[in-house]
Amino acid sequence: MTVFTNRAFDAHEQVVFAQDPISGLHAIMAIHNTSRGPSLGGCRMWPYPDEAAAITDVLRLSRGMTYKSALANLPFGGGKSVIIGDPKRDKSTALFEAMGRAVDSLGGSYTVAEDVGISVEDVETMATQTRHATGTRASGVGDPSPGTAFGVFHGIRAAVRHRLGRDDLSDIPVAVQGLGHVGYNLCRLLSNAGARLYVSDLDAERSREAARAFDARTVAVEDIIAAQVEVFSPCALGGVINDAALQRLQAKIIAGAANNQLAEDRHGQVLKDRGILYAPDYVINAGGIINISHAGPAYNEAKAFQHIARIHDTLLAIFQRADKSGTPTSEAANRLAEERFNPRGTKAAEAA
Ligand code: NAD
Repeated sequence: MTVFTNRAFDAHEQVVFAQDPISGLHAIMAIHNTSRGPSLGGCRMWPYPDEAAAITDVLRLSRGMTYKSALANLPFGGGKSVIIGDPKRDKSTALFEAMGRAVDSLGGSYTVAEDVGISVEDVETMATQTRHATGTRASGVGDPSPGTAFGVFHGIRAAVRHRLGRDDLSDIPVAVQGLGHVGYNLCRLLSNAGARLYVSDLDAERSREAARAFDARTVAVEDIIAAQVEVFSPCALGGVINDAALQRLQAKIIAGAANNQLAEDRHGQVLKDRGILYAPDYVINAGGIINISHAGPAYNEAKAFQHIARIHDTLLAIFQRADKSGTPTSEAANRLAEERFNPRGTKAAEAA
């Protein structure tokens, strides 16, 4: 098990291991870069097979948050935390109180929010022990998925404009993979905009529900990647753009909420070579964190959502940059983000 030599370490400022014998907490908090401001990122609870898997995940996720906040122009650095445990079995008030104390011990260099396996209520329990917790109902924000879906919708608009030269989504066929918190909300927005929907979820009842609500066509889980559509929108799992999937993909655009959609970095180049426009996942799915940046007593949903809609313009700028430099959009996004944070880390380092 390695930290410093882990491929995802990439000059993290701090990695903190926290444990609490009474509640059984085993957590890792990673702060990648705070040159833009204190780090912000969700806490994930997952039954990792071993500590090495948890370390790799938290390092990868926290680094990703630096890039995400930089591209959304938010005054945050990148951080993330993981709790090793099964969210179906191992949750308790004591566990999340202990996690809140662990976050508090970092003195504000990391602010925690929700992520996979962690609910708004869990973060609220952490918030009883620290003021460095956000995305709670008291902060005005709560569930991040409507904001994420709204951002993905505007990202799809940008991609359609760039790749298909169309300013509206009327009658554009879109395949949505995964009809969970984000996917279902996204279907509503797409349907209202006149898109023709093809939907798929592991939960067949969920697919039928979406089909009824949005006049969509249901597609078998294994076939959604090959749907005859203009836009493929992954809103389930990461790694869906892999060699096997690329052989079957028909869409001209990939634009969805799932994290880490490209199985490997080189798939960005493969997509470019095939003329498929890829909306980099961490740009298009930043709606939740943009919303959180407005959290507080003066939270104004309309203002926050106007800010989220600007994902459209950020993506257009990335698409144009990629065209100009002849690079995949995934690389163009990374380079733009890297221009916006200091790889040497904290504001103190920046001043030195
Ligand atoms: P969710 O768990 O609510 O929904 C995921 C859905 O995908 C479930 O309904 C599940 O049954 C379905 N699914 C899983 N595997 C599938 C498959 N192979 N084919 C079809 N359906 C499948 O998750 P969510 O909150 O909607 O998030 C969706 C994705 O977006 C995740 O990758 C998440 O990391 C990412 N994301 C979410 C947010 C947010 O605000 N919730 C923010 C940024 C990124």
